[in-house]
Amino acid sequence: MVEIFNYINGEHLKSTSNESMDVINPSTGEVYAQVANSNSTDVDNAYAAANAAFEGWSNTSITERSRILIRIADLIESQLDTLAMAESVDNGKPLWLAKKVDIPRASSNFRFFGNAITQFASESHSNPNSINYTVRSPLGVVACISPWNLPLYLFTWKIAPALAAGNTVIAKPSEVTPMTAYLLTKICDEAGLPKGVLNVIHGQGHRSGDAISNHKGIKAISFTGSTKVGAHIASIAAPKFKKLSLELGGKNPNIIFADCDYDKMLKVTVNSSFANQGQICLCGSRILVERKLYDKFRSDFVVKVKHLKVGNPLAEDTKVGALVSKAHFEKVQSYIELAKEEGGKILCGGNVVKPEGLENGYYIEPTVIVDLPYNCRTNTEEIFGPVVTITPFDTEEEAIQMANCTDYGLSCTLWTTDLNKTQRVSKNVDVGIVWVNTWLNRDLRTPFGGVKNSGVGREGGFEALKFFTEPKNICIEF
Ligand code: NAP
Ligand code: MG
Repeated sequence: MVEIFNYINGEHLKSTSNESMDVINPSTGEVYAQVANSNSTDVDNAYAAANAAFEGWSNTSITERSRILIRIADLIESQLDTLAMAESVDNGKPLWLAKKVDIPRASSNFRFFGNAITQFASESHSNPNSINYTVRSPLGVVACISPWNLPLYLFTWKIAPALAAGNTVIAKPSEVTPMTAYLLTKICDEAGLPKGVLNVIHGQGHRSGDAISNHKGIKAISFTGSTKVGAHIASIAAPKFKKLSLELGGKNPNIIFADCDYDKMLKVTVNSSFANQGQICLCGSRILVERKLYDKFRSDFVVKVKHLKVGNPLAEDTKVGALVSKAHFEKVQSYIELAKEEGGKILCGGNVVKPEGLENGYYIEPTVIVDLPYNCRTNTEEIFGPVVTITPFDTEEEAIQMANCTDYGLSCTLWTTDLNKTQRVSKNVDVGIVWVNTWLNRDLRTPFGGVKNSGVGREGGFEALKFFTEPKNICIEF
């Protein structure tokens, strides 16, 4: 059985508790590895290592830090096949998707921040008799906590800017998908990242995660995950005055106007609904369609969705793999039941799938639901699975009202060829990210994050480097 260890001070270690947990392959429902179940002593040990490494790493030249990060990027790229297979087995996502998106993006994250740090500057403000200049220094030991949906992709999205800015890191991946974080630690060794600069703690959120939030030495927490856990972390960390960046849940509207480029919209909407089994915080789970187009869209969309092959993540032609865990599989099923109770009509999908030989895996057909009130629970709570609803609207104002009716505010997709409408709707939807005639088109320089219950703060580009540094202003009079 494969064993996944913590990574503390450059060493691969069991938890001091000697406890471990099962790691499950969701495509089969079988245990395939064991992962360390860490406690607060492990977090203390990781902190001691990170704290001892801080002096050296924060004083390492920008050129050298950049060189090591880019070396890590190169090594991730060279191990594409191994890492993609590990991600698919651990998470249930199609192997081709991990090869095309997850692992290349993990590499890009290191490459991007390895380069960005060489361009990161701070301000100066001059007056006739004085000058202010601002120095941005790393914070110290920081924590990065990431979810299971895009395991290595989001883990590296946090770690890379934290390290680039000169911090030392304690990182915790989700206990559900710990494998690629473990493999990354071997890559970091090979790339020459000094001992203690990155430490990885595995284990349960409420145990090792709480030990991180409570640790008085940790200066900042960058968290991506659910709104509920984000609020819990904030309740512990805010009174300790830790810096917090919270990237939380979403219930994103996909607003389709009748004047859109129909073929492109239809193709992209299938993807924005069901990519990664609908388990992307940016998926457009509420499809709002202008009434003129409603009947046509419904029927064309369902034809395409019925063609999506559900099954073995390792098969080339699989479009929808397994959901990540039994608990999540049951949660998604409970929402399909709720939709029925709320009066929804299932246009297609809604059933569990049992592919031959993989009967114990966690598969659900891509599900399309109509006839629900726009503000019912199914339409306002995050499901985070292969389930979308379609709702008609008559006017632009009504579309905006529907879009804004949830507590979430992460992203919105707009489909229209009317430039003025684009401006009006973008301005009035309460979200942090708007895509117009595209979806998940990412430029790593842009601010990424949500409003309302979707989070606090922004990641990406210089926003991330600002988060992971503390500005100090120095004023000199002459
Ligand atoms: P989650 O349950 O909130 O877990 C996220 C991470 O927090 C995991 O590593 C988890 O560890 C850890 N954790 C759990 N309890 C904790 C605690 N008390 N203290 C500290 N850490 C704790 O979220 P998830 O189910 O993994 O991920 C799905 C959620 O993430 C969805 O809501 C989705 O929208 C959101 N998400 C948001 C973004 C974004 O950019 N806004 C991106 C991706 C996903 P364990 O797994 O070991 O419990
Ligand atoms: Mg797993």
